[in-house]
This record gives sequence, C-alpha cells and structure tokens, in this order.
Amino acid sequence: MRNLEEVQVVVLMGGLGTRLKEYTKECPKSLVPVNSKPFFDYELELLTQWGFRRFLFLIGYHAEMISDYYGDGSARGISIEYCMDGEKLLGTGGAVRRALPYLDEDFLLIYGDSFMDINYEESVYRYFHGKESGHRALMTVLRNKDLFDKSNVIMQDNEIVLYDKHHTVPEMDYIDYGVCMYERSLFESYEEDVPFDIAEIQTELSKKGQLSAHIVTKRFYEIGSPESLKEFEAYARFRFEEQHPAVFLDRDGVINEIVYNEDTELLDSAANVSQFHMFPYAPSVISQLKQKGYYVFVVTNQPGAAKGKTTPFNLYDINTLLCELTEVDDVFTCMHYPEKLPMSREPYLIRTCDCRKPKPGLLKRAMERYRIDVSRSYMVGDSFTDVLAGKAAGVKTILLGGMRCDVCERLSGNKPDHILKDLSEVIGVIP
Ligand SMILES: [Mg+2]
Repeated sequence: MRNLEEVQVVVLMGGLGTRLKEYTKECPKSLVPVNSKPFFDYELELLTQWGFRRFLFLIGYHAEMISDYYGDGSARGISIEYCMDGEKLLGTGGAVRRALPYLDEDFLLIYGDSFMDINYEESVYRYFHGKESGHRALMTVLRNKDLFDKSNVIMQDNEIVLYDKHHTVPEMDYIDYGVCMYERSLFESYEEDVPFDIAEIQTELSKKGQLSAHIVTKRFYEIGSPESLKEFEAYARFRFEEQHPAVFLDRDGVINEIVYNEDTELLDSAANVSQFHMFPYAPSVISQLKQKGYYVFVVTNQPGAAKGKTTPFNLYDINTLLCELTEVDDVFTCMHYPEKLPMSREPYLIRTCDCRKPKPGLLKRAMERYRIDVSRSYMVGDSFTDVLAGKAAGVKTILLGGMRCDVCERLSGNKPDHILKDLSEVIGVIP
C-alpha cells in the first residue's frame, strides 16, 4: 500500500455556488465561513491528520481568494499546487482533464464543498488492491436508501455492479459518497476544454466491472444550500468546539467473541466477517452509552494481516460490519506488528508503531480528531494492555473478566478503576 504522504489529493473548488449566493457573492464556496473559520479548513485539517501532504486545488470562481488564503501550504506543513479553470465552465470531468499535466498517475479526488470523514487509509488500500485485478478507479459509497438524495449504486457482495445517476432503479440502495480515486490515464482520451461530467467515467467503469468500492458508514456534510450549511454549522460546533466524554472499547472479547482457531488450537481474533460474532448485548450497550452523551470509539490491535493470518481487506470488512450493526462513532485500528513472521505478506505493516496497545496512540488519534473531555472518559478492555493504554491516555479504566487474576498481577501498580464481568455491566458504572 502506498503511504498517504505520497498520494496526491485533487480538490474540485471551481464551483459557482449558485444556491448559496447570499454567501458566495464575494467569496468562493470553499471559503464560506462556518463558525468563524473557512469551510474547507475543516476538511483540510482532517486530511492532514490522516497524513496527506500533497494537494492540487482546481480553482475558478474567486480563484485568487483561495490561492491567497492557502498559499503554497507550507504554513500547514503541506504543499499546494493550483490549476485554474479557463473562461468556460468545464464540469467536474473537464476540470480534471484540464489539470492533466499536474496529475499523478493515481490520485484521490474530493469536492471542496464537502466534509467527508472516512477512513482514507482504507480508500487508498482498496484502490491499489483493486488495481491488481484490473480496476481503474475507486468510489466510496454509502448505504443510503434515498435518505440524503436519490440512491444511484447497485452493490452485490460488497462490489459495485452499477453506478448510474441518470437512470436510477429500485435495486439501487447505495449512493456515491464523493471521495474517489482514479488512474490519470482515464482522462487522457478526452479532449481539452470540452465539458463533461466525471460520472460518465464512473458509469462506464462500473459496467465493465472496473470500479472498486469502499463502503463508508458515516454521513457526509456539504454546503450546497443554506439549509445544509446550517446543518454542518451545528455539527462542527458539536464536534470541534464543544468537549464531550468518550468511551473507548477494545473489540475482541469485549464487543465480539474470541474465535477458536482449529489449526493452531489457540484463541484468536476473527479473521473475516463470517467469524465475527457480536455479543448479543453489545449494540444496545453502545447505544445506551451514546444516549448518555458519550462518543463511543473502538480501539483495537489487529495484527492478523501483518502476521499473514488474514488480509487488511478482511479486517476492513469486519470494521464496516461493526459500524453498520452498532452506533459506534469511529473505529481506530492498529494493524502493525513489530516482528516479521514467516507468513507475513504485508511488509508495510511490520514496524514498531505508536498505536499498538499498551501504547496510547489509538486513543490519542481519537483525541486529535474529536474534542474529548478526557477526565470524564473511559477505556474498557479485557486485557492488561487495554488498562495500560487507557492509563497512558489519562482516562479511567475498566477491566472486563473479573476472574482473571493473572491479568491483575501483571497490572500490580496500575490497577483498573473497575473490574466487571462483561460489557453489559458497564452501564451500571459509567454515569
Ligand atoms: Mg480484547
């Protein structure tokens, strides 16, 4: 997998913002102020936290305001290049085609008027994974059921069978989410300065079976209309201005059963979706914690792919399922493992990292992305490594599995705040 630092992020920012005209008369849509900060700052900060460093902004309407404000990006530790739309409105495809000389061989494309909080590492992984079997682009899709807009994607076994936004049929229950990856060569056959919609390319690839999917589970925000702008303002206030407490949950043994591996005769983590069995009480406990006003995050070590027992693909699928079946706000996964084992097939996952518990990196990452009231937060896990990670991050800790004396011994000076039987009991302890 390619490092996100190396991946070029192309941002479509040329739009006129006609539906927002009371805001965009004197300013481009991406710079519309949201709680006293330009809108696109929220997305750019998120992308920078994920590790992206190389940006290409496609600008047109009020172009100079965008380039004056963001400059070359060095103040934010990133690099930003610009490509100007011409006189003519080119549509999304035409704008990208015009930027051909600036494009990497593979690039990520997003819209400058949307806030898209997804697992970008997963998008990049799935894109390059798909390329190995001849795919040429990736589309993020959300199970929509016509909630936000008309659904336009048919999925089968987590694969895109058809994307068509002009001819929608009842079988469509997913919608394109707005984050895509492309091969540059897809744009080479188009003539310069001829307008076209990028959806043309996507529809054609979907019919040829060359469009990879990344299923995302969180809604997106855009500022296309005054109503949706208000909606994002409220969300941004909740997430980036107010502090809220969080419950961090370990996954295996807490939310889902540990799996007995017949080959090794050892207990292990689920290697694929069919081995993932949630404890029956888990979804309801998570939803009760949400009702009490907590964020619920899953923080989990999953070294299975690094060890060669499964693939990142399978691990991502399990996370997607978990997010579909429960109300967890986010899943933070450490896929690293410090030593190379004979079956390791993903060399980039073999390293000493700062996220493998007992290190607090996964909790710290959540604290970077959300404003968390640390003093009122909890870590819940069934291993001493969970307790140590929670202590290192400064939250209260709950150890599950009260009978495990060996665990308590290993924790000698680091006793958890509570020892409980299982997750169903935390509701009685967390206020
Ligand atoms: Mg566990």
